[in-house]
Amino acid sequence: MEHALISPQLALGTHQHDILKPKIDSDNDEKICVVCEDFATGYHFNAMTCEGCKGFFRRTVKNNKNFLCAYSKNCAVTRQNRRQCQACRFQKCLNKGMKRDCILSDLELNKKRKIIQKVIRTNTQISLSRSS
Ligand SMILES: [Zn+2]
Ligand SMILES: [Zn+2]
Repeated sequence: MEHALISPQLALGTHQHDILKPKIDSDNDEKICVVCEDFATGYHFNAMTCEGCKGFFRRTVKNNKNFLCAYSKNCAVTRQNRRQCQACRFQKCLNKGMKRDCILSDLELNKKRKIIQKVIRTNTQISLSRSS
């Protein structure tokens, strides 16, 4: 009875079929930065980017920088040469959907956080001076 249930050939067959099957790894495939093609760490300011481009975009918007391309505004931005032309790197960030607004709201949040921290600090100072 038991022998009839499990056929060794069939078991082997399915096993081989599994190996030959092309891997479908849509969930765990490596994320690629849409700007420089480095490994991305997730969505930053509305686009899938690496930590480098995330920081670059944030700094640029935060400091209100205006870069000028020394070439013809169509430099290739890759992992290797992404530092060469900041103008084209920033333009590519925008083209890929990164949003200035996301940073501004981020900055606003930080400001608010700082104000809250200040309030907490002054409050603790007051209570400390009262208790002493
Ligand atoms: Zn990048
Ligand atoms: Zn350029």
